[in-house]
Amino acid sequence: MKVETVGVVGAGQMGNGIAHVFALSGYDVLLTDVDAAALDRALATIGRNLDRQVSREKISPSDRDAAMERLKTTPTLTELGQSDLVIEAATERESVKDAIFAELVPALKPGTILTSNTSSISITRLASKTDRPEKFLGFHFMNPVPVMSLVELIRGIATDEATFETCMEVVSRLGKTAAVAEDFPAFIVNRILMPMINEAVYVLYEGVGDVRSIDKAMKLGTNHPMGPLELADFIGLDTCLAIMNVLHDGLADTKYRPCPLLTKYVEAGWLGRKTGRGFYDYSGDEPVPTR
Ligand code: NAD
Repeated sequence: MKVETVGVVGAGQMGNGIAHVFALSGYDVLLTDVDAAALDRALATIGRNLDRQVSREKISPSDRDAAMERLKTTPTLTELGQSDLVIEAATERESVKDAIFAELVPALKPGTILTSNTSSISITRLASKTDRPEKFLGFHFMNPVPVMSLVELIRGIATDEATFETCMEVVSRLGKTAAVAEDFPAFIVNRILMPMINEAVYVLYEGVGDVRSIDKAMKLGTNHPMGPLELADFIGLDTCLAIMNVLHDGLADTKYRPCPLLTKYVEAGWLGRKTGRGFYDYSGDEPVPTR
């Protein structure tokens, strides 16, 4: 199977990063979102991020221009049907992903490989509701996509070898490295990372430390480049909560119980950087802790 054209569903922080790296690696990319404003924001973000790569001499000005040239947007999901590979990177909610696949599948050409960038939802279950579980794979990028070298590849129970091998080749053409995970809730990275973030929120909730002391302790005490609360804001608190719920429901173990404070922040619409407020307030020049 040869992949030349790629459709990306969802133009949020992950979708714009995914579109960026594919266009820069020579693929023709078609990006869509239900929110037309998200498409405009994504193009502006990709342009800014490519400019930053030019100024750091990671890519040339002609690489940037060629990437922007290969990148197109559409408000119509079904236009992605002619792509060789589709990556779904919409909101982390199973009903949202199911609705996207239900609308897209009838428009797909027979050979299209269908993938999801989900952080936690069962690949086998998402695949079972499409017409091509054998051509369905978990294609899980890390945030920020242009910077992070890992891609987790997750086979569903029905994924065939040709689909898996094709996606392995795509990962290497992107200049990234794949780690293969089995299809269990949250796979490898988030199965380990999210309970740590959730525990940091419990530490805050119980008053063991405040936002600054928790992040400082983990940065300087464990050599992590970001503290867990800073990282949670960066990922998006809605996404963190959704992943904890998938772990809790899928593994039926109380150790994955989402912290009530995390739930409260999400209920307040304080989702982290993307809404300007989470465990830090981002409205000024420097992030200020909110607790
Ligand atoms: P986000 O909130 O930044 O963006 C989600 C986008 O999906 C929004 O622009 C929204 O308008 C769009 N959307 C919602 N419903 C849609 C629909 N029906 N059709 C098309 N677009 C739709 O979220 P994100 O952080 O980019 O996360 C997207 C996916 O990537 C999730 O599955 C998430 O778990 C996964 N992921 C996130 C991270 C992270 O660090 N944030 C890392 C790896 C994977």
